[in-house]
Amino acid sequence: MNRKYRKTVIAGNWKMNLLPSDVKAYGEALRQRAGKVKFCDLVVCVPAVSIPAAVKAFRDTRIAVGAQDLSEHASGAYTGEVSAAQLKDAGAKYVIVGHSERRTYHGETNETVNAKLHASIDGGLTPIVCVGETQAQRDMGISKDIIRAQVKTAFYKIPADRARKIIIAYEPVWAIGTGLTATPAEAQEICSEIRAVIRSLYDARIARAVTILYGGSMNPANAAELLAQPDIDGGLIGGASLDAGKFVQVINAANQ
Ligand code: PEP
Repeated sequence: MNRKYRKTVIAGNWKMNLLPSDVKAYGEALRQRAGKVKFCDLVVCVPAVSIPAAVKAFRDTRIAVGAQDLSEHASGAYTGEVSAAQLKDAGAKYVIVGHSERRTYHGETNETVNAKLHASIDGGLTPIVCVGETQAQRDMGISKDIIRAQVKTAFYKIPADRARKIIIAYEPVWAIGTGLTATPAEAQEICSEIRAVIRSLYDARIARAVTILYGGSMNPANAAELLAQPDIDGGLIGGASLDAGKFVQVINAANQ
């Protein structure tokens, strides 16, 4: 983390878990414990149907509500899709874009991710854009090539003043939900590479200002070591964010 130049962010990703009616109890547990957080921004990305309940549960706290996906279109005949404007109107401030589960199960390409990144910014949401290599790509030794291509395409035609506000999450696919975690040194190496790509696309000031998260089985036991790396500015936490107690322990590791 480097708080002098950029924000620390801890974001939870509930994926397709918990009901809208579960949110109140979770909010109460989190609210009690996370009251004294000063040094990092907190986000919980909930299923779209739970956004109104989450906004209510986290009112008057530092916890912002995020969505997990959005349509690349602003409005129109796209049955089942949800637009940035609709998410914002429901109270979301953030949105995850290009999560590996969207890429794997819903065919999202780097180009789709770029379109969704534009849509989220145009709609006034702060995107958390996910990049990461698969196990096979890692085994082939092409992790950095994959990440470079993902970042470059995601940021295509994103103007500099907007790029600096985008949060990037490095999430090695092989580490998501598996209990496997990149070592702090491995995660740092890729996050530093991501910053270098941003520098090459924009400039050093923007690269220094961009918040880069690590995600992939981050939990209370490994969070402090990962967050101690200079280019890791926070975490995107799946499984461990479903338990308010565990999530708070990760938050506490970032709030030192
Ligand atoms: C995620 O869903 O973004 C994630 C990192 O999941 P987990 O923490 O469960 O690996």
